[in-house]
Amino acid sequence: MLVVMQSQATDEQVRAVCERIEQLGYKAHPMPGAGRTAIGITGNSGTADLVSLEFFAGVAECIPVTKPYKLVSRDVKPETTVVRIPTALGEVAFGGTEIGMVAGPCAIETREQAFTVAKQIKATGARLFRGGAYKPRTSPYSFQGHGESGLQIMADVRKEFGLGIVTEAIDHESLDLVEKYADVIQIGTRNMQNFSLLKRAGRAKKPVLLKRGMSATLDEFLMAAEYVMSEGNYNVILCERGIRTFTDFTRNTLDLSVIPAVQRRSHLPIVVDPSHGTGRRNKVLPLSRAAVAVGADGLLVEVHHDPDRALSDGPQSILPVDYVQLIREVRAIAEVLGRTIN
Ligand code: PEP
Ligand code: MN
Repeated sequence: MLVVMQSQATDEQVRAVCERIEQLGYKAHPMPGAGRTAIGITGNSGTADLVSLEFFAGVAECIPVTKPYKLVSRDVKPETTVVRIPTALGEVAFGGTEIGMVAGPCAIETREQAFTVAKQIKATGARLFRGGAYKPRTSPYSFQGHGESGLQIMADVRKEFGLGIVTEAIDHESLDLVEKYADVIQIGTRNMQNFSLLKRAGRAKKPVLLKRGMSATLDEFLMAAEYVMSEGNYNVILCERGIRTFTDFTRNTLDLSVIPAVQRRSHLPIVVDPSHGTGRRNKVLPLSRAAVAVGADGLLVEVHHDPDRALSDGPQSILPVDYVQLIREVRAIAEVLGRTIN
């Protein structure tokens, strides 16, 4: 059920409706929009009838929500959500007219490596730096990341360069630490349906970048975001990172058609990761151009100063000089769409 408040409804009236919803055993999610506030209702412990809410002061209408996802739906919030990440260099916004850029190595390998890449990334005007401290690798014998000391290096990168930090959490333990050290909590493709981790991320105080599961349907992707939001964290950025198909010339197939499909159904911003989406360095630039052209709200790009010696994902990592070229080209495309590159 969705309660739509009248445009002139007061904060007090919204509060009164929320209180009633909670009394009935549900969770209320007020979503202020440009024209009016809608209140999403979640929870399955409540038994009482919600129809009486229609008679509360300030309520315009109560709409039954038939879709499996509620809070992520555009029915709840017609305007696209703008997720804002404050950094010492200025804010990065995902979901507005700006296109948010996140760049950095797949994994934090050494302090020198992280600082070298961060310095070059910053020179392009970037404000958000990515790097993995917890790496979910296919083989247990591959480099697994440095854990907390990797997070510490990223905290030092933030201190030195002012860049905000985006990094992945793979379980509850790492999420506690990532929440402490980072500015954005990334949930990777392999954990998109780790529901207990999604709920933990939903209780975190930092925005979440949620990657699409490599075999996830659109509904499954949106339901994963619903898990995070249902716990009260509404700052969710979706990320298309490629799905499994039969093609063998790329690591994954970047499903760019999901961008307009998501935008039709959901108010959440969606970014594209052309690095994991292709797995091939020479395809990162053309797919970045395409992603911006199709309407992505941002890009997540793996950049390494010495990709051939990278401890993970070297084949898909581009050089800083190529990242400069990428920015130049996507900026030109963004301009056509009336957007700017952050
Ligand atoms: C990553 O961004 O480094 C990563 C492991 O991505 P994914 O979860 O998309 O494979
Ligand atoms: Mn990677």
